[in-house]
Amino acid sequence: MARVVVVGGGFGGLASALRLAKLGHEVTLVERSTEVGGALTEVSEDGFGWDAGPTYTLLPAVVRDLFRKTGRPLERELELKPLDLVREHRFEDGTSVRLTSGRAPQLRAFDELGSGLGRRWVDHVASYADDWDVLRRGYLENPWRPDDLPRELAALLDSRETLAKRLKRTFKDERLRMVAGHPLVAEGHDLRNVPAWLGVTAYVEQRFGAWTVEGGLARLGAALAARLATRGVTALTATEATDVVVRDGRAVAVATTAGDLDADVVVCAVDPRRLPALAAYVVRTMPAIPPVVVHVGLEGPAPDLAHEVVLHGDPMLVVRTGGRAPEGCSALTVHGRGRLSEDILRALARHRIDLRPQLRTRVDRSPRDQVERWGGSPLGVLWQGRATVRRRLGPTTPVPGVYAAGAHATPGAGLPFVGLSAALVAAEVGPA
Ligand SMILES: Cc1cc2nc3c(=O)[nH]c(=O)nc-3n(C[C@H](O)[C@H](O)[C@H](O)COP(=O)(O)OP(=O)(O)OC[C@H]3O[C@@H](n4cnc5c(N)ncnc54)[C@H](O)[C@@H]3O)c2cc1C
Repeated sequence: MARVVVVGGGFGGLASALRLAKLGHEVTLVERSTEVGGALTEVSEDGFGWDAGPTYTLLPAVVRDLFRKTGRPLERELELKPLDLVREHRFEDGTSVRLTSGRAPQLRAFDELGSGLGRRWVDHVASYADDWDVLRRGYLENPWRPDDLPRELAALLDSRETLAKRLKRTFKDERLRMVAGHPLVAEGHDLRNVPAWLGVTAYVEQRFGAWTVEGGLARLGAALAARLATRGVTALTATEATDVVVRDGRAVAVATTAGDLDADVVVCAVDPRRLPALAAYVVRTMPAIPPVVVHVGLEGPAPDLAHEVVLHGDPMLVVRTGGRAPEGCSALTVHGRGRLSEDILRALARHRIDLRPQLRTRVDRSPRDQVERWGGSPLGVLWQGRATVRRRLGPTTPVPGVYAAGAHATPGAGLPFVGLSAALVAAEVGPA
């Protein structure tokens, strides 16, 4: 049995701690804030409640596997339900497309946008089927060895093609390029620096759908937090890890604001640039910056919108419906990126979604507020070209005894990938 210290209590840290405890290790989780969950928590104000970060997840199998492998199956605690209408894209020329998952509905939706566009879209998505298999086998579901990759995986990861180039080559219609690039643009990346293989997200969304939890995705974080005690994990909240203590070339402890915690195994589930012993290995990474976020509480019903409405332009605005609200009220969240020289609700009103007359309460979170609150960006590492994939740590790191999970580690940000990062760490550490 190893003494494991997990640094960071976001989804990545929680999932790692629970998996390793279930494998028989003695696990301590260190979390700087007073509650665990990181971005997977709720923001509340005036009787309203909103998901602070994620509101839906792709790849529900990742969450189901985590619950099954660490205690009661998910369906015994929470209902993960598919979103019928995942997203509506509204373009500056006044046209729009409404996306559900599934090939046939997407074909129809794009054909309504323009004759022949349906076929172009589904062919583009289908072109990622083989990449998905290669990634799944060599990178997502089994710990990779960056210096010894299977040929097909190396060819994919080392390809010079960027997503911007691929989309330009594939689509004459700029609107399709915007839809295909959206998941990466929404996470703060410039598509000219994003490898083409990351377009695989569209394939994953079409094939496996987008899923949420009734009452908010933060309930998932709360269920995992409650599971810590069941699995015997010691959770030290309001305790900040300041470094990994390395002796004779191996991690032996985690230095924290409450003193040193001895460890045989350390899992870094925060931005490793924050821990000096690891910082030297990630000097060439930069964080992907969160959007401006405004949680809004309204008198009366919210406008009838898809779960997510993307208003393309500069600024790009994203409205996410859902949240807890007092009787007769409703809740939603707005994200903004780009030129936000006026109040975000005023910018939104220009798109004929005027929430101001119904406004009862709002909570504003700048990108900086979020990074300070979570001790780093929950959106992980910024794509700076194809080399970025090898600049992230995880599941192993160059420091023996230290592993990396979470948005800053392999295979990246977003709940499904963060969930996979914890499974990869557990596979590397192995049972007690
Ligand atoms: C606005 C927004 C919307 C998003 N929407 C979605 C979505 O809809 N779907 C989706 O899949 N993903 C979404 N994401 C991404 C997703 O939330 C993250 O990728 C994921 O939650 C990251 O989990 P994490 O554990 O790596 O990091 P975090 O959630 O950031 O957790 C890190 C934790 O570590 C703690 N910590 C930091 N430093 C230290 C330290 N030195 N010592 C101790 N503790 C420390 C922090 O307090 C925090 O609790 C969104 C992110 C944002 C910001």
